[in-house]
Amino acid sequence: MNSRFKALDLLSNRKKVTTAPLSCNVSEMFACNVYSEGTMKQYLAPKLYKKFKKIIDAGANLDRDLADHVAESMKTWALSKGVTHYAHWFQPLTGRTAEKHDSFFTLNSDGEAVEEFTGTELVQQEPDGSSFPGGGLRSTFEARGYTAWDPTSPAFILDVNNKKTLCIPTIFVTYGGQSLDYKLPLLKSQAFLERSAIDVCQLFDPAITKISVTLGWEQEFFLLDEALFNARQDLVMTGRTLLGRVAPKGQQLDDHYFGTIPERVYAYMTDLEQECYKLGIPLRTRHNEVAPCQYEFAPIYEDVNIAVDHNQLLMDIMERVAIRHKMRVLLHEKPYAGVNGSGKHNNWSLATNTGKNLLSPGKDPGSNLQFLTFFVNTIQAVSKYADILRASVTSASNDHRLGANEAPPAIISVFIGGALTKVLNEIEKGVNVTEDGVKKVLNLLSKIPNLELDNTDRNRTSPFAFTGNKFEIRMAGSTVNCAAPMTIMNMIVGKQLKEFFQDVQIFMANNMTQDQAILLVLKNYIHESKDIRFEGDGYSAEWRDEASRRGLGNYADTPRALEAYLAKETKALFVESGVLSEEELEAHYEVGLEEYALKLQIESRTMAEMCMNQILPVAIQYQNTLMENINALKGLDLGEESYSAQLSLVKEISICVNIIRTCAYQMKAERESAGKLKPRAKAFAYCDQVKPIMETLRNAADELEQLVDDEVWPLVKCRELLFLR
Ligand code: ADP
Ligand code: MG
Repeated sequence: MNSRFKALDLLSNRKKVTTAPLSCNVSEMFACNVYSEGTMKQYLAPKLYKKFKKIIDAGANLDRDLADHVAESMKTWALSKGVTHYAHWFQPLTGRTAEKHDSFFTLNSDGEAVEEFTGTELVQQEPDGSSFPGGGLRSTFEARGYTAWDPTSPAFILDVNNKKTLCIPTIFVTYGGQSLDYKLPLLKSQAFLERSAIDVCQLFDPAITKISVTLGWEQEFFLLDEALFNARQDLVMTGRTLLGRVAPKGQQLDDHYFGTIPERVYAYMTDLEQECYKLGIPLRTRHNEVAPCQYEFAPIYEDVNIAVDHNQLLMDIMERVAIRHKMRVLLHEKPYAGVNGSGKHNNWSLATNTGKNLLSPGKDPGSNLQFLTFFVNTIQAVSKYADILRASVTSASNDHRLGANEAPPAIISVFIGGALTKVLNEIEKGVNVTEDGVKKVLNLLSKIPNLELDNTDRNRTSPFAFTGNKFEIRMAGSTVNCAAPMTIMNMIVGKQLKEFFQDVQIFMANNMTQDQAILLVLKNYIHESKDIRFEGDGYSAEWRDEASRRGLGNYADTPRALEAYLAKETKALFVESGVLSEEELEAHYEVGLEEYALKLQIESRTMAEMCMNQILPVAIQYQNTLMENINALKGLDLGEESYSAQLSLVKEISICVNIIRTCAYQMKAERESAGKLKPRAKAFAYCDQVKPIMETLRNAADELEQLVDDEVWPLVKCRELLFLR
């Protein structure tokens, strides 16, 4: 039996995996494994707790003594929960999380076993960082990397089969303090945005003294049985199918979207949700997505820093729980050709200490000018910096999410819905910058029925959409670390608000009232950012032409999209905001290029191996069968007609076999010459030389799948991957 049939056999013998029923209410279990503020209050003396809160809220540094107390309290709590180890948990530029475990256990001076955890160990660690991507920031003699505690995200207990580790969220930097991770830039971007947003808010409401960024992500993914997964080298090596004919049935009947959740998936989801609740991840929504075997989870939104951690944690738990259920989760943006890929929409907004969502128009007309300010400034920021935003979500895997029913990041446009389009058009054309004009605008805004906003016509084709009280960044792919697009959003909107504040001051100095000045600035911005707004079908050819007429960027692959980081203005912006220094930005750029080339290298090697070792042997074997048949028929003397079809098949197979062999060798040569190039040129070589050969190779292999006997075909077929349970 070949590996395909072994897998299918295993699948049909699969016993159902059931999960333990909910052990208690969600409210009882929620965050029980998190060192939350509530827990800290229980374990830390009130005076120390107050001091700690004050320092954290002010963003100041902890003194060693207080750090020792906090560490001691964390240890006491963790030991009471059966924890044996602790780990600094961080998010290197690999895109996933990393952790190095140390035991609480140590030997004291008398050689006795004791449990210890000091403030020093809590605050800083020095994992050997030399194997993480650093984009040249660390020369090998300075390979050290440091992790430093981020007290704004709570520590938590990772429980893997009852083996428990206290995880401390940290940032990861070089010896010289340069960023090697996703978290430090995110925290800096948040601070930058907060500074300029508070200045702007103060124009409207002096009570606003704190702003937080809110993020609610939506995580899409595919599930499949582990037997099918293990039988495909490409899934194991790259997380996606590199070969395989598109199944005759895909998603065209829309029979999966929001359909009933299969029983096995139900068990998986319930189990996963319980794990998440214990870690304080507020999952709220689950449903079937568009493609067969595709699903989605979404939580209640949270402060961006915590939401990012929770999403990273979720991806990790998703994979672990899937294995428990004898399944595999595919987080890849495009696991299967011919059906939708997976995104991770990032819903972004701003909340104030007064309990207001700055992107919610609200019912109170008096606050509508504030809404309009943040709404228009966000659009203006995206219109100016679309290229950097695109670069933040670009990757070898997200490059596949173009076309079909997926928000394409190649051309960035902003969708705001009919009602707000009308308002902006009216302001641009029909409102004068007078007190009456201000009244007219407030009137216009207060007339937008909330219902209409809640139901903002959904435009699935838009990469960036306003959805009533938040912007939805739809172009982000399912594997992305949300911190990447969030950092850019914070930075560009922060910069934009800073400019807005200055522009308003200039007009006010010229004898305008504040409201008039605000209106005039917004009116100008609405005009300037008009080209980025698009309400139509983002997939149509007409839009591509129109976008090019408007001068909007169109970059469909990673090496080209990443070039945005090289622009002089980009560097200046990163430096001004303090998010990354020029050197750090270059390093992050280089990591992006290297990751791209490496991913393509692995894919191209895997593809060649599968073709040469698995497909060609069965194709040739089947050809032999056909030739035996032809010879036998020739012996019967029934004329050429009797074996002409077989002969054609033999020829067609030969053509494909030749293409495959030639491509495999060509690809190898291209990889070898790409390997000698510097990161930028290498990424381009993979994109422009290797990738096209992969496509030709795939076409020939998929053609063979059609020609060769199903009984000998070695790869689990797409129809089996997507439709068998
Ligand atoms: P849809 O798929 O229709 O866009 P979902 O319910 O799947 O809607 O997801 C909506 C997401 O938006 C959730 O993650 C939710 O937490 C998030 N969200 C809602 N309000 C806000 C807000 N003010 N800021 C950030 N995210 C928000
Ligand atoms: Mg959703």
